[in-house]
This record gives sequence, structure tokens and C-alpha cells, in this order.
Amino acid sequence: MKLKTLQNAILFFADPVHCREYMVANRWPHGVECPKCGSKDVLFLEKYNRWHCRANHDAPQFTLKTGTVMEDSPISLSKWLPAFWLLANCRNGISSYELHRALGVTQKTAWFMLHRIRFAMKKKDRFKMGGSGRELETDECYIGGKDSNKHIGKRAELKEFRQSAEMKGAGRLVTKTAVLGLLDRERGKVHAQVVPEISRRELRLAILNHILPGSKLYTDQAALYKTLPSEITHEFVNHLKEYVNGRVHTNGIENFWSLLQRGLNGTYISVEPFHLDRYLDEQVFRFNHRKDRKGNKTPDVDRFSLAIEQIIGKRLTYAELTGKVGETQN
Ligand SMILES: [Zn+2]
Repeated sequence: MKLKTLQNAILFFADPVHCREYMVANRWPHGVECPKCGSKDVLFLEKYNRWHCRANHDAPQFTLKTGTVMEDSPISLSKWLPAFWLLANCRNGISSYELHRALGVTQKTAWFMLHRIRFAMKKKDRFKMGGSGRELETDECYIGGKDSNKHIGKRAELKEFRQSAEMKGAGRLVTKTAVLGLLDRERGKVHAQVVPEISRRELRLAILNHILPGSKLYTDQAALYKTLPSEITHEFVNHLKEYVNGRVHTNGIENFWSLLQRGLNGTYISVEPFHLDRYLDEQVFRFNHRKDRKGNKTPDVDRFSLAIEQIIGKRLTYAELTGKVGETQN
């Protein structure tokens, strides 16, 4: 069955056998392997819906969730898979309240599921964009800061906090979180991340970590970018005078910002800076997989499969999510 719509996905994955067949084909296209030792000498225990590895080691049994973002979750794949579908394909994302109502899980569970799915969507940190003569756009934006975007119950608290911060001279930066964005124009791919503070040093570091030498970098006039090394061509457009100067403009990355804003304002009532990186991963995932290389729209089922492909080797526990310990990722 070729899945086209959310309804197809919900009906199809309601059958645990379909979940298993889909996951096995996606995760182990060359046959089921033990996640612990890689052995293919495994026995399927149908009654328990798990496998037993015949190699002689501790904890020889594993399930489809072992070694993925879903590890240790009691929620069935019949709910997990539609949740992946929703987050991979809803343009503005989906809130934990919506997911809670759609799947019949608690809001807290839905919140945790969404964060784990976002973690699966996260790209590996060590990739670089651009290269010889390739055109990149970079820009920064600030998220939050407007009282109207915050949860109503917290507004008074926030005001008080801000007043005291302003008295200490911290001002604007306290309630706004800075985000750096990079767009590879030819490939249509974006990288976005939270930067601890908008300083020359932080920006320079974040940019250099993600672009290859020889790239052409277009920015607005921000003087912050002036200290980039000479192997990167840098041109800027002065927004006080004009928005586009031939090929020198930042319209592509600004288009990404407006998508991000729409998701943040419409779907998510309040986003704490601590979790902003995950919302960025989610928005970047959808943006980077919206079209294929030829410019054709990516079908929903393909974007869903891409998210599923990234679940392996990643785990995110509740303690990690709430900031108690660092996350694990192989
Ligand atoms: Zn094994």
C-alpha cells in the first residue's frame, strides 16, 4: 500500500504487523541485526514481538525500539508512527496538546514524544555547506521578547524579571534568543542554531564550523561578519538603501525565518530558549526536505521515511530533556 495521507498512515499502522514490516524494511533492509553485536543470527519471538540474539552476550533480546529514540517508551508504534508522520509533514508543526488529543496519550507523553522526534530530525553536527564559488546567505534573528508571544500566566513574572534585568543593564538580550541561519542557495538547504550571544566571536565560530572554504557569503550589513577569514568571500547588502543588489541579498534565509516565526507564533504558545534548538531542528528538517534535487515537491510519505531513517543510534531521556545531563548520540 502506498501511503499518501495521514489517514492512510493511521489506518495502515493500526496493525502492529504493518508497523513491524515497515520498521524492519526501513531499519534492516539487509535482514534483522542485533543492535548490540551486529549479528544476524537472531531468532524472532512472535509471541513477545522481539528478537533474541544467539551470540553469547548480556541482554540478548531486543525490539524495534531498541537503540532508537523510542527506546524504553511504552507507547506503541501504532501511535509513534503517526506522530512521526504529523511532525514531518505539518508545515507549522504540531503542539503537544494537539498530539495528545489526536493520539489519546497524555499531554506530558505527547510533549516527550515530540521532543524525541525532533531529536531524530536533528542533523549531524559535523556537516558543512558551501564550497568553491557556492553562494550562501547568512542572517540572524531573535526569537521571543514580545510579551504577547509568551504564555499569559507568565507575563507578569516576565515583566518583573525584565525590569530587574534592565536595571542591571542586560536589557533586550535577556528575553530574546539569538538564532543564526545559513542557506546554501543552490541546494536550498538551511542550517539554523541558537547562538549563546550575538557577538563577533560566537557568530564567526558558528559560521566557520558549518561552511567550506571558498564559499561566497551574502549578509545584510551587519558589521559582526567583518572578521571572517579571507578564503571566504563576503558581500553584503545595505538594508537602509536596498534589499537586493544583483545576487547579493538574503531573501532566501529571510523566507526561512518567516516560516519559523509562523510555527512559533501559531502552534507553540511559548518556547523556552532551552528547547529552541529542537524547534529549529524540526523546522530545518521540513524545510530541507520540502523538495528533491530536481525541485519536485517531496511526497509526505518520503519525508516521513526520512525522519524514521534518522531514529537509530539516538536516545533522549527525560532527564536529558529537562536539562539534568547531556544527551547521547552515536
Ligand atoms: Zn547480539
